[in-house]
Amino acid sequence: MMSDKITPVAIVTGGSRGIGKACVLALVEAGYKVVFTYHSNESAAKNVVQLATELGGFAKAVKADAGSKVASQALIDETFTEFGRLDALVNNAGITKDTLLIRMSDDDWDQVLQTNLTGVFYTTRAAAKVMMKQRSGAIVNISSVSGIYGNAGQTNYSAAKAGLIGLTKSVAKELGSRGVTVNAVAPGFIDTDMTDDLPHKEKILDHIPLKRFGQPEDIAKAVVFLVTSGQYITGQTLQVDGGIVL
Ligand code: NAP
Repeated sequence: MMSDKITPVAIVTGGSRGIGKACVLALVEAGYKVVFTYHSNESAAKNVVQLATELGGFAKAVKADAGSKVASQALIDETFTEFGRLDALVNNAGITKDTLLIRMSDDDWDQVLQTNLTGVFYTTRAAAKVMMKQRSGAIVNISSVSGIYGNAGQTNYSAAKAGLIGLTKSVAKELGSRGVTVNAVAPGFIDTDMTDDLPHKEKILDHIPLKRFGQPEDIAKAVVFLVTSGQYITGQTLQVDGGIVL
């Protein structure tokens, strides 16, 4: 149990927009100081910092490429140096380069795997060292229903997201004895810039029993639950997808 006096600290990768932004703000509301990364959209990042302040909390934006080993290590090290602890890591940053397999370039494959999977390895390895010493912590990886069911046009993306589920289970087994939980959340179709120009949206809706696309806040609620109340949950993948059938 955390003492009342300690303000917990969280890192969210890709917190300037969409699901990551909702996670930052929900964690701020839950009483966390949050350090989040962004890739290039500085004005969106500044807006999130401002919103956190308006909520009476604290968020700090760091420009850091999720696929960079150096930037990922520095993110964890500098956060720990500045705040003296690390209670939660939400590996959320992700990209798509969708196309059919036979048209998929090496670059499409490499970029998606580097950002969505290898980057998570970098931050998780660095955070694990801190959390193991601390003997507490929660790591949440944002996977996808594409990583569970597969999705035409997303060979690279679904491979990376399925990889995250394997990574989650293995790291959960390694860190469990040190009081660190590791889980994944697999969103379905969530209303963000990433899904903005998806074709055939109406058709997708037919496959969602709850008859709506998810909102970023739907995912943030699951993340905050796992981080704040999931002390006996580890190695799991929580689907937050409106019951989607792919
Ligand atoms: P989004 O609206 O496109 O936002 C992506 C966020 O990630 C932005 O804050 C962006 O920063 C940041 N980002 C992108 N590339 C980055 C990089 N190389 N380094 C650091 N930050 C980077 O995406 P989203 O829909 O919120 O998705 C968030 C996560 O959920 C992703 O992992 C995605 O795969 C997963 N997901 C989404 C859905 C969905 O339906 N939306 C479904 C399943 C899973 P900038 O603002 O600087 O660009």
